[in-house]
Amino acid sequence: MIKKSIFKAKRVANEGVSGWLDDHAVVVEDGLITAITPVGSLSSADDSYEVHDLGDVSLLPGLIDAHCHMHCSATADAQVLALTENNQQLTIRATNNMRKAVLAGTTTIRDLGSRNEVAFAVRQMIQNGHVPGPRLLLAGSPITITAGHCWFFGTEADTEDQVRTAVRAQVKLGANVIKMMATGGMFTPTANPRTPQYSVAVLKAAVEEAHRMNVPIVTHTLSAQGTRNVVDAGVDHLIHARWYDSDPTKGLDYTHETVKKMVDQGQWVDPTLGHALLGQEAKARGEKGPMDPHWAVSFKLVEEEEHIGTLTKMHDAGVRFTTGLDMGMTYGTHDRSAANAWAFVEKLGWSNWNAINAATAGTAEALGLLNEIGSLQAGKIADMAAFSGDPATSIRNLDRASTVIQSGSILKLNNAVLV
Ligand SMILES: [Zn+2]
Repeated sequence: MIKKSIFKAKRVANEGVSGWLDDHAVVVEDGLITAITPVGSLSSADDSYEVHDLGDVSLLPGLIDAHCHMHCSATADAQVLALTENNQQLTIRATNNMRKAVLAGTTTIRDLGSRNEVAFAVRQMIQNGHVPGPRLLLAGSPITITAGHCWFFGTEADTEDQVRTAVRAQVKLGANVIKMMATGGMFTPTANPRTPQYSVAVLKAAVEEAHRMNVPIVTHTLSAQGTRNVVDAGVDHLIHARWYDSDPTKGLDYTHETVKKMVDQGQWVDPTLGHALLGQEAKARGEKGPMDPHWAVSFKLVEEEEHIGTLTKMHDAGVRFTTGLDMGMTYGTHDRSAANAWAFVEKLGWSNWNAINAATAGTAEALGLLNEIGSLQAGKIADMAAFSGDPATSIRNLDRASTVIQSGSILKLNNAVLV
């Protein structure tokens, strides 16, 4: 028998995720949206539907987060735990993190670096319906140089040949995306965030190999030279996209020519500002706050305003941004993807709707999934999240969802968890 439901809400996102349809209903059959209609025009005769009146809520497409580490703890000691815990411990944490994420309203996640033994097993359990969790796109373990950024996630590859083999191995395991660490990162003491880890030639080999197998490739990059390298190599998305000078006594080394090329090539950027915002708020509450600066950046600290300056120039030039929290890094808890939209509004000055759109339709487009998810339209998968209050008026109303529907199934209804 076909499962049919109707969800009524005071505010329902329009097709473009750019405004509200007042007092509308979303009709769902067999996991797909079949119609969106004013509540007044619903025929009351058809009692084959299960009807849920969600009341004074804002019903949006489920949030999408393009940057997660499912097995990381988001605690102050996240780095130590990622280094020392075994796969069983990491799998238990990842399972719980994915449950928290979906119950907060994030119905699709791209994981950009977790151990292979953890990530693929957790996805299998979610897909088979044994545990709740979001729709998952996986990179598995990221590709990094020996002792490079996040080497302890499991895949070290230095040369062109090794990198090609590493890409093939990830795709063979079921990776939907390749994550490569183009520079060092703050999470890894033996890596240097100010310098590239790979030459353009090695990056190009990885891009060629990923694209040969029809899989996108995204790169972590904090150093200016690393950012220039990945743009030249033609990767699909840039993660962080910062501009640290390779000289540890200097600040940033921004080059606008690189950004123009980024726009021409349609490369998306995940600015990871939501995670920074959560760390700052934790510190303001009296908690430890963000990690101590990595040694490579401690000689010349760069204020956040400078990074925001370069990100604003990039966005003004036409670079599009995804919402990616870097879930699992300190204070980037898996139930707080909404902080991406908060940061777009509060740190970058975007309109609320532009931020909400980025967290749904925009990031769906970046992930190549806009024809399936990202907006509420007939024919799309019924992934939805309802929020009390109106996030178009106050972006902080976008937070943990009160109702979550995934492929038409209700996981949480008016704050009651059903799974
Ligand atoms: Zn990350």
